[in-house]
Amino acid sequence: MQDMFSLEGKVSVVTGGSSGIGKGIAEGLAAKGSAIVIAARNEERTAAAMEDIATKYGVSVSGVTMDVSNPDSIKAGMAKIVDEIGRIDVLVNNAGLNIRKAPQDYAIEEWDQIMDTNLRGAFLCCQAAYPTMSKQGRGKIINIGSMTTLYGFGKAVPYGCSKMGILSLTYSLALAWAREGIYVNCIVPGWIDTPFTQKTRKEFPALQGFVEGRTPIPRWGQPADFMGIAAFLASSASDFITGEFIRVDGGFAQHPNTVNY
Ligand code: NDP
Repeated sequence: MQDMFSLEGKVSVVTGGSSGIGKGIAEGLAAKGSAIVIAARNEERTAAAMEDIATKYGVSVSGVTMDVSNPDSIKAGMAKIVDEIGRIDVLVNNAGLNIRKAPQDYAIEEWDQIMDTNLRGAFLCCQAAYPTMSKQGRGKIINIGSMTTLYGFGKAVPYGCSKMGILSLTYSLALAWAREGIYVNCIVPGWIDTPFTQKTRKEFPALQGFVEGRTPIPRWGQPADFMGIAAFLASSASDFITGEFIRVDGGFAQHPNTVNY
């Protein structure tokens, strides 16, 4: 039987693929044979991830310098990918950031930075990939949500708005583009051990034990926990699935209670 998870001959663009969850996703796609394009800002970190993935999986890995909070940078980066590689089979909208504080303390600039990166950036990347995917008659888009996609967090109001918005983006684009063969789904991570949450644990030391205590699978998630789900959602194994979200959270969301981080 043909391997329905194979991504041989495919090209996957992963925003923020140089670190954390995005790198785990890029590795999952590379492990199934996809060429990888990492789109991020820091060129040194991108180069290190490119070398690591190419060495481990023997696929073609390239990098494009892109700031997803900047519409011109997205346009230029995606145009470069289409010019130089000629196709986009998978787009993973993973680049994101958070600023944690009490709702009353946010500056407008902080709200804008979070929304422009996490939500507007994802939408504009989808728009930029659309002509190529539409011409191919096939494409897979994977958006990255958060536990805040599902419920409120006291110290993450703009982030939560952006990540609930990501689900709406997923639902609406899935409807809009299904007949063109473009399928759009969302991965909803729990608490994952990455530079992003390592910083948060320095700020809120009690978070370490809170996550271990409350998560039914009692550990922090790792970037490698995203390899399988990414390969599934990018491949023909998920060809009748669109507009869906899948939690990768060790069961965390099964236990809603106060989350003040
Ligand atoms: P990391 O900080 O480890 O990685 C973030 C990545 O995004 C980096 O590659 C970074 O590269 C890139 N990035 C950030 N801002 C931009 C930008 N403006 N333009 C392009 N690239 C950018 O974070 P995680 O892996 O933890 O997070 C990845 C995603 O997962 C985010 O969307 C986050 O919200 C989400 N998430 C994370 C959780 C966790 O527990 N870790 C839980 C739930 C969701 P560079 O700085 O070079 O641009």
